[in-house]
Amino acid sequence: MPGLSERLAGLRGRIAGACRDSGRDPGDVELLAVSKTFPASAVQEAYDAGQRAFGESRQQEAAPKIEVLPRDIRWHFIGGLQRNKVRKVLGGFEVIHSVDSLRLAEYLDRVAGEEGKRPRVFLEVNVAGEASKGGFSPEELLEAAGALPDLRNVEISGLMSIPPETDARRWFAATRELRDRLEKESGLGLPGLSMGMSGDFEDAVREGSTIVRVGSALFGQREYPE
Ligand SMILES: *Cc1c(COP(=O)(O)O)cnc(C)c1O
Repeated sequence: MPGLSERLAGLRGRIAGACRDSGRDPGDVELLAVSKTFPASAVQEAYDAGQRAFGESRQQEAAPKIEVLPRDIRWHFIGGLQRNKVRKVLGGFEVIHSVDSLRLAEYLDRVAGEEGKRPRVFLEVNVAGEASKGGFSPEELLEAAGALPDLRNVEISGLMSIPPETDARRWFAATRELRDRLEKESGLGLPGLSMGMSGDFEDAVREGSTIVRVGSALFGQREYPE
């Protein structure tokens, strides 16, 4: 298996290729390196190869890594977010991809105000309506449109989705279309689409993803569940 810096370069090349396919600027797509279950040493190695944005899905697992790693890393929270973890997550992470209800968005907005922060957030949508997955349903999202502009202490970047593996590309397109509708109905600019993982990020880029969340294709197979 090639080393981490070669894999990182390979991923960047594939993102650029998917951008070329779809007439997009590679500078408009960010690579988020998902380091959950991997040790701080693996993050350091990717950092040394030039990577700066890392994603973690559990606050308790991330905290000791954040503690010892370089301060200029941009940490993104991508896991299920419980209310009792919100304050700590705001302390360590600058972007939150997993805001899955209006109630959580409102709570986050309140706590961010108290903490003097303004995190960038993505609203997670369960775009295919899968029973096993969390997130806003498309209907809930559109119902929330009127309330979103009142949230002053979060910068709502756009939508995040984790579609089914089969036919993922169609669901990436559906996420983009939903984002377009939410922009119209809320009056907010929502440029961000957090879509695509190791197995499907090129299709996500072809459908407009602005940030791909890639774990195993960079760090290798995870040996224990996240
Ligand atoms: C683990 C995880 C990823 C990365 O998955 P890979 O298939 O290893 O690339 C991306 N997004 C979320 C929300 C995750 O939990």
